[in-house]
Amino acid sequence: MACGGCKARIEISKLQMAANVGGAAGRAFKAMVQGKPVFSAAQMVLKRHMICKACPSQKYISELDRCAACGCFILKSIVGAPGKATLANEKCPKGHW
Ligand code: SF4
Repeated sequence: MACGGCKARIEISKLQMAANVGGAAGRAFKAMVQGKPVFSAAQMVLKRHMICKACPSQKYISELDRCAACGCFILKSIVGAPGKATLANEKCPKGHW
């Protein structure tokens, strides 16, 4: 269980995070409309998650399974929404995947 210190590591504001979520939702919707993949293949999800867990920029918050740089959950959010690594059109903010 997180003590709150992990959340303090997140480097962007709640407003920026909300904008990121909106952007991700928009990209997913656009992909769906265009008939392109919305979700990453299982192997890609695993690969991305492995990269995050050994994040070269040291932005991975293991207690939350979350990226400190963008605030995104990696596999799934606390409400069960798909995390960044599971969405085909998302990218690492530091260019690691
Ligand atoms: S998304 Fe990128 S910067 Fe964030 S934890 Fe994963 S590898 Fe690191």
